[in-house]
Amino acid sequence: MRAFSRAVLAIALTMALARPGLAAPVSESEVETYLQAFYEILLFTTGQNPGEGNQPQPRVVGKVTEPLRVRMIGPELDQHRDLILQKIKRLTEIVGLSFTVLDARDESENLLVEMYHRRPSDNFRCRAANTVNARGQRRGHVFIYPPAVNQCTTHELMHALGFAHDYGKFDTVMSYVYRSTDLTPIDLMLLRVLYDPRLKPGMRWIPAITAARDALVDKLVADGAPPETVEMGRRFVRNFPEMMKREFAEKGNVEIQAQLGYAYTFAEAIPKDEIAGYYWFRRAAEAGNAGAQANVGVSLIYGRGVSADPPLGIPWLKRSAAQGHGGAIFNLGMAYRDGRGVAPDPVEAYKWLAVAAAQRASGAEANLQRLVPQLTAAQIEEGKRRAGSWKPDSP
Ligand SMILES: [Zn+2]
Repeated sequence: MRAFSRAVLAIALTMALARPGLAAPVSESEVETYLQAFYEILLFTTGQNPGEGNQPQPRVVGKVTEPLRVRMIGPELDQHRDLILQKIKRLTEIVGLSFTVLDARDESENLLVEMYHRRPSDNFRCRAANTVNARGQRRGHVFIYPPAVNQCTTHELMHALGFAHDYGKFDTVMSYVYRSTDLTPIDLMLLRVLYDPRLKPGMRWIPAITAARDALVDKLVADGAPPETVEMGRRFVRNFPEMMKREFAEKGNVEIQAQLGYAYTFAEAIPKDEIAGYYWFRRAAEAGNAGAQANVGVSLIYGRGVSADPPLGIPWLKRSAAQGHGGAIFNLGMAYRDGRGVAPDPVEAYKWLAVAAAQRASGAEANLQRLVPQLTAAQIEEGKRRAGSWKPDSP
């Protein structure tokens, strides 16, 4: 959507929300504005150095799934503790999470609020840095610059809750244009939508926007919007894959190319189209995306969306495996076991399945155990040795 029409929609929404006696938006364009804001603010992330020309990067859905354990540290905390806790309380109530405040020395937190005095650069004020560990557990870390505590705490907490992108076009606390210091009607709705159980961490764009539409219209109706609201937003969702192609994938956005590959190949909220899925996987694979390379390999080996040509699939699995992709490593093991695209080689099969099992790739351990009785002790020994000395290429 062009910047101009985005701005018009944002103004229309603001006016609608200001109309007295109107409990909730009721027009198609208002519903679409919410969806637009949702994908812009949730599904992009700002580059490492905003303002330095970095393009926003696409990402998958991120949200907090456990009760918040909050630890607070740093200078001037005593003066600001109540205000910060008030803001945490408000946000957690909206999203339906509970929170406890830990002792400052208890490092088992999943949200660290750090008051921060040094300003390494002029535009530094507050910021957030979230991490996700190997078990998928999320830890938020927000840095609050004490003189700006009121302006930026809600904004940084929104980052910690999963909204990744600072975006100017809508009146939200994430906007660097509107500069709201507290939650706007758009923020309130986006929080409720993200924390609807239909929105799951790790969801890719097309399934996420589809689930967001369903959650959004239900909430609007629950707030008093007329029943026909339930039908709204379908046009937006229907046009969404085309928009992704036109605005992102065709322009070389590799992550979106890969997401289109998954959506078409696995019918993620759109009709299955394995040929289209292969096309987008192939483009992303050629640009180096490990997940897409694994899928191109599997597609060529098994003839999914393209004529089967197993020997052509093996190099794609190897390129992906060299980046450490668990699915590629597993499928390479299966190819050596079954002799698909390569001569059967039980030792290589053992090696790749053992590496995949160590990464907990789905199906790897069971297939490794089924392989073992067919091997000699010496073959197992050699397979273990090769698995033990294997490392992904350093990036
Ligand atoms: Zn921000």
